[in-house]
Amino acid sequence: MDGDGVIDITDLAAVDPSQWPPVGMVQFIARFGDLLPEVEARRLQGVTLPLSQLRLEAPVRWPNKIIAFPANYHEHISEMRENVISQANAKGQGFFLKANSSISGPADPVVLPPVEGREIHHECELGIVIGQRARGLSRNKARGVIFGFTCLLDMVIRGREERVMRKSYDTFCPIGPWIVTPDDVPDMNDLTMRLWVNGEQRQSASTRDLIVDIPEMIAMSSAVCTLEPGDIIATGTPAGVGPVRPGDTLSIEISHIGRMDLRVEAGAVGAHPVWNALKIATLS
Ligand code: MN
Repeated sequence: MDGDGVIDITDLAAVDPSQWPPVGMVQFIARFGDLLPEVEARRLQGVTLPLSQLRLEAPVRWPNKIIAFPANYHEHISEMRENVISQANAKGQGFFLKANSSISGPADPVVLPPVEGREIHHECELGIVIGQRARGLSRNKARGVIFGFTCLLDMVIRGREERVMRKSYDTFCPIGPWIVTPDDVPDMNDLTMRLWVNGEQRQSASTRDLIVDIPEMIAMSSAVCTLEPGDIIATGTPAGVGPVRPGDTLSIEISHIGRMDLRVEAGAVGAHPVWNALKIATLS
């Protein structure tokens, strides 16, 4: 990005948009350090495309994994009806995984599955994109493996079924509108994020209120898994989660990162008796 212009480096990055699996961006992120001088040279040529005429896709479409931290803001924990015991937050509970196929982009709708009688909630989050393969990182080495930051929505069906299933529907992980590299972020521990439904603000917080902070999330993740370029960490949501309905517009904005406006649609696919099982169990 250069102002409102976009520098086309598709050829330089050797990304084929029709490639399957769509791992071009993951490979580009892995080679980014080597390509940076050529990217800078291309920027100096000053040939840009107007952003308004482009359709942006999810900045990473095929990561090795999406790591997500639950219960990582004190105020959000107290609004959830679960028993809040000292270990029931991300500090003592760690992380979970969300299906990679739930990723969608800034121009894509959030498609709600037809699961009757269930609330589908928005969770406004900062997404971290990993830039290097790493394992067993200490806190002070964590910053060095960050490729960049993006806006992320962790959509979820509320309930008691397995969290992974409730959070893994297609389009339940919109990311974008792009990735901002750390040199353009003055302080990752003081980013303001906000979410609106139909223009009404529902969530507002700063990353300074995180229970497990960004370096510790990377240290904890890399203790368990080898982090790969393109991996995404969903850092948790603050208070103010709530239901979304077909026809809504979800807007997320994070300071120094960007903003996405996403329309919400009713989907035809996704009903399954698994969503009725708990109701039946309650009746019997
Ligand atoms: Mn979340």
